[in-house]
Amino acid sequence: MSFLNKLLGRKEPSAQAKQEPLPCLHVGLVPQWDTAADIGSEALASRFVCSTCSASFTPDEAHALRASEAERLHAVLGN
Ligand SMILES: [Zn+2]
Repeated sequence: MSFLNKLLGRKEPSAQAKQEPLPCLHVGLVPQWDTAADIGSEALASRFVCSTCSASFTPDEAHALRASEAERLHAVLGN
């Protein structure tokens, strides 16, 4: 019986429960352009895509993310 209890009753906590994945900080934003003529100029980028999670941002959002980048890194790293 104790063998069965051990087998069925004791569940190891999953690795996921122990370690929550960190939210993406979107620090690697890559500019993308809709118009070929604009390519190369970040100011004319149509959108920015996170190189880590592939989330897409408007230039305004990308600007806000970059402005708060250091702040957000601090919060996550805890120092
Ligand atoms: Zn991201």
